[in-house]
Amino acid sequence: MAKVALVTGGSRGIGATISKQLKSSGFTVAAIYAGNDDAAVAFKKETGINVFKINVSDFAAVERGVADIVKQLGPVEVLVNNAGITRDGFLHKMTPDQWHEVIDTNLSSCFNMCRVTVPAMREKGWGRIINISSINGQKGQMGQTNYSAAKAGIIGFTKALALENATKGITVNAICPGYIETEMTGKMNPDVLKSIVAQIPVGRLGQPAEIARTVAFLAADDASFITGATLSVNGGHFMA
Ligand code: NDP
Repeated sequence: MAKVALVTGGSRGIGATISKQLKSSGFTVAAIYAGNDDAAVAFKKETGINVFKINVSDFAAVERGVADIVKQLGPVEVLVNNAGITRDGFLHKMTPDQWHEVIDTNLSSCFNMCRVTVPAMREKGWGRIINISSINGQKGQMGQTNYSAAKAGIIGFTKALALENATKGITVNAICPGYIETEMTGKMNPDVLKSIVAQIPVGRLGQPAEIARTVAFLAADDASFITGATLSVNGGHFMA
C-alpha cells in the first residue's frame, strides 16, 4: 500500500509542487492549507490530491485534523513541514503580533505536526520528516528578525528530533531554499529582485520543482543514512 505523505501549505506555492512530486513518487498525499479555499479547490481538481483545512499553528486543531486524515488515509509516514508566512518589519517597529504570528506559524507548527505524527512513526519503525527552513534562517535578513529566528529554530529543532529518533528508522532533515520563483518573489520590487539575482552565483532564481525534488530524495527509502542534515538549495547564494 502507498505510504501517506502529509504536506503543510501543500496546496499552493512550493508546497503544491512538493505535493505533486510526492504523488508522482508513489505516495498518497494529503495537503494542508490555512484558508485559501479557492486555491485548495482548484488544486484538488487539478491533481486529485486530498486537501485539509487545518491551522498548523493551533495544537488542538492539528490534533483533530491529523486524526481525521489518519482515519481517512492511514498513518502519516512522511511529514513535510512547509507552511510558512512572513510579517516583515524592522524590529524597532515590529508588533508583538507580527512576532508571534511568524513564530507560531513557521516554528511552533513543526512541534505541533511532529508531536501528533511521530509516535506512530516510532511504533512503525519508519518515518521521514522534512522541514522547510530558509536561507534567511542561515544568514539573517533585514526586516525579518521573526522569520529568521523561526527558520533558524527549525534547524536546531531538526537536529534534536533527528537524534531522538535515529534508532527508530525515522530521519529528520531540513531544507533551506534560497530565493525561489514564486508568488512571493513575484511581488517583490523588480529592482530589489534584480539585485538579489545578481548575488546568486548560478545567476537565476530557483524553481519550486528544485525544492520538491530535494524533498522526494529525502523521503525515499534509500535516504535512510541522511538525518539531522541541513540541505542548502540556493544556487550557491550562501555557502553554508
Ligand atoms: P506561499 O505563501 O505560496 O504558501 C504558503 C502555504 O502555507 C499556503 O498553502 C498557506 O495556506 C499555508 N499556510 C500558511 N499559514 C498556515 C497555517 N497557519 N496553517 C496551515 N497552512 C498555512 O509560500 P511559499 O510557497 O513561497 O513558501 C513555502 C515555504 O518555503 C515557506 O515555509 C517559506 O518560508 C519557505 N521559503 C520560501 C522561499 C521563496 O522564495 N518563496 C524561500 C525560502 C523559504 P493557504 O493557501 O490557505 O493560504
